[in-house]
Amino acid sequence: MPLMRSWVESANSPDTNFPLNNLPYGVFGRGADEPVCGVAIGDMVLDLAVLETVGLLAFEDGDEIFNLPFLNGLMETGPQAWAVVRENLIELLAEGGNDALSGNPALRGAALVPLQDVTLYMPFLVAEYTDFYAGKQHAINVGTMFRGAENALPPNWLHIPIGYNGRASSVVVSGTDIHRPQGQLKSADEAAPHFGASARMDIELELGAVVGVPTEMGKPVTTSEADEMIFGYVLLNDWSSRDIQAWEYQPLGPFQGKAFGTSIGPWVVTKAALESFRCVAPERDEPLLPYLSEPKPGLYDINLEVTMQPEGAPLATTICKTNYNRMYYSAAQQLTHHAVGGCPMNTGDLLGSGTISGPDKSEYGSLLEKCWGGKEPFTLDTGEVRTFLEDYDRMTLRGWTSGDGYKIGFGECTGRILPAVQEPDWTK
Ligand code: CA
Repeated sequence: MPLMRSWVESANSPDTNFPLNNLPYGVFGRGADEPVCGVAIGDMVLDLAVLETVGLLAFEDGDEIFNLPFLNGLMETGPQAWAVVRENLIELLAEGGNDALSGNPALRGAALVPLQDVTLYMPFLVAEYTDFYAGKQHAINVGTMFRGAENALPPNWLHIPIGYNGRASSVVVSGTDIHRPQGQLKSADEAAPHFGASARMDIELELGAVVGVPTEMGKPVTTSEADEMIFGYVLLNDWSSRDIQAWEYQPLGPFQGKAFGTSIGPWVVTKAALESFRCVAPERDEPLLPYLSEPKPGLYDINLEVTMQPEGAPLATTICKTNYNRMYYSAAQQLTHHAVGGCPMNTGDLLGSGTISGPDKSEYGSLLEKCWGGKEPFTLDTGEVRTFLEDYDRMTLRGWTSGDGYKIGFGECTGRILPAVQEPDWTK
């Protein structure tokens, strides 16, 4: 699909994340005003609450869904309504389209705000957060480190999109700093665990699928139905403490090593914007059970990169470049598997893809893999040597598709690790 031109000039630049083809949704605030729903276009954000108030985006039943500090009202309306709103917005913003906005200077002034003048908030209320482990290279790398190359993939891996139930309460928007977690730690040469701050702080480069349409308890869905339920995708950094995780994870999986913080990007890129970038999953090593079969390509060709910038470093160093097409299981397959036993899915559920890593070392989406469990320190462009994260290191994720003369960008998901909080007096 070619670039759709907009009368918002900055949206026609080949460098912008937000051409008319994209129209990602977010929640923004101006000064002390209550945050509202908006859509990014070029270097501006379009205030959807303003458009709704003047009747340019009104639904038949008259419910206000944009004058809210979260997108859940829009998300639960479902795919048909999403398509109507998108079509509406494209008409209002296209060069030569409906001039109700472009031809009304007062309305334009009220509804279009420079992105640099707004604060971006959590785009939606996260109902529940589930994290998967669906990147094959990541699973092979981690499995090789922990169990040896022979037993890298557990026997279920090629059959099940493996996941665990994470915490919605600690999902935060890009820009939020995270304190280094404390907890039980035990190295191989210690006889008993000790309490302390994690020394092996990591990131995980992931894409989050945002569920729009809920399911009923007890009712499975096909992968086609699951795909229809997904509202869009966000960048996701699943901060991880490898030393807390290593001691706690058997037999029930990650707990405190993952519960202290997950960052998501402020923009939800819709499935409609990504449609022409769909791509097929890699060849199956083992045939999947029929309930996981996928009639249409379930992955997307999305470039992803991670940069790292220590405090005071003049530049950020790119430490990973990979692509979402490296995944073994799609979000629709993960969602189908999640619901297959009867678990109801809700508007606002967030599904982490699992760490995305490609076969080359430059494509590893976590520091655990990049420094190979701490054995191979790496040097940043600015000279600092790292294995895991040090305090105040800034980690930034970016994602975009490469269209013909334009890109569909996710913006960025950034955050820093702060020192651990003061330990309480445990005797009180
Ligand atoms: Ca993860």
